[in-house]
Amino acid sequence: MNMGNESIVVRGVSKVFETPAGSFRALTNVSIELKASEFVAIVGKSGSGKSTLINLLTGIDRPTIGEISVAGETVTGKTEAELARWRGRNVGIVFQFFQLLPTLTIAENIMLPMDLCGTYSSGRRERAIELLSRVGISEQADKFPAALSGGQQQRAAIARALANDPPLLVADEPTGNLDSKTSSEVMDLFRSLAGRGITVVIVTHERDIAKIADRTIKLRDGHVESDTLAKHPEPAE
Ligand code: ADP
Ligand code: MG
Repeated sequence: MNMGNESIVVRGVSKVFETPAGSFRALTNVSIELKASEFVAIVGKSGSGKSTLINLLTGIDRPTIGEISVAGETVTGKTEAELARWRGRNVGIVFQFFQLLPTLTIAENIMLPMDLCGTYSSGRRERAIELLSRVGISEQADKFPAALSGGQQQRAAIARALANDPPLLVADEPTGNLDSKTSSEVMDLFRSLAGRGITVVIVTHERDIAKIADRTIKLRDGHVESDTLAKHPEPAE
């Protein structure tokens, strides 16, 4: 786990997409430093660059210029193969539509990132059950995803994202498909994870949800329009 202060550094990052209609600048000169344990909301209108920024943090996409490092490692500059290996151990990703594999049980879904990365080979199922307890659904371990509610599926997806104990957890509109009560429960879960040394970055356009974050970064037309710390105190570690 990262012990430095700045867990994630984004420096002078721009992203230009080449399209048939010409170049499109999705991010312009974005510089951000995030601390380990920080719970950060990325907000802004549709099209402001939120998903683009998240995809650069996870190494799913590369900046046109600028540099990104996560937990002291420079992400930009890695080859595709290096990136894939790095991502498996360093980034947990949670999606709006959960993306659990329907033919695997919940426990098997959570063991999959361990299988793929060759981690925890002596006790993958035990670890999966422990992660499921952490997100409050250990009794669902042997069911298939279709048997779970949306909120339970998202909890399982969060457990899967934590499988290899990454320093960074990102989620792009993770509550976009949940009712408001379930959304706030899922957000409380993210908040409790951020207190454990993981940097949690959540994209949302829901104001209520952004309010519980330690810090809110607002994008507008690919620029950081504002970057504000919440008034509530940081959670004790
Ligand atoms: P948000 O997540 O804030 O809604 P995005 O980061 O998805 O916004 O997109 C920002 C802008 O970049 C949008 O105008 C979008 O159309 C454009 N964009 C995103 N991805 C691509 C791509 N692969 N090719 C071309 N344009 C893209
Ligand atoms: Mg988006």
